[in-house]
Amino acid sequence: MTTARFKGLIFDMDGTLTIPTLDFNAMRNEIGLPEGDLAQEVFKLPPEKQQGAWDIIERHETQAIHDQILQDNAEPFLARCRAADIKLGIVTRNERRSVDALCAKYALEFDAVVTREFQFIKPHPAPILHILKQWNLPPQEVLMIGDYVHDIDCGRAAGTKTCFYHNQGSTDHGEDADFTARSIDDLSEIVLG
Ligand SMILES: [Mg+2]
Repeated sequence: MTTARFKGLIFDMDGTLTIPTLDFNAMRNEIGLPEGDLAQEVFKLPPEKQQGAWDIIERHETQAIHDQILQDNAEPFLARCRAADIKLGIVTRNERRSVDALCAKYALEFDAVVTREFQFIKPHPAPILHILKQWNLPPQEVLMIGDYVHDIDCGRAAGTKTCFYHNQGSTDHGEDADFTARSIDDLSEIVLG
């Protein structure tokens, strides 16, 4: 019987639970946006241009919806977490249908899912706070895991512990995180020992 260090895990989806699928640079180029946070750059566009930008993003997401592949060893890890009574959640800026497609493909179940349709998106802490309330868990007993600085900022703002997921070859940084994992096996070590 393993003693888990956390009572709940909240995952980012693209690039964390899954191998990175979305090509954010291709989306930026097609919309004509500079480097930077995709959603924030879209919100800076004149109002009449924003819908067109979201249409482009949604087209990319639709193309990617069935291409999502879980990270190596993610399935057995999630199963071990389940067996250890750890709550499992997702906070993503992607759409609900993308999460549903991933869950259907791999027969996964999560205790809480917050997607772009929610009123606030990362790095705002509200998506995580929403889940903590649902789970009735104090933030320090929950680990937020993500491959982008927003995931870490979101967790820190909500008061959870944080784990930066460093994909091979990624230039993203997460030095403010409590932990860094370079694989699901690393993450398993952090969570289950
Ligand atoms: Mg991500």
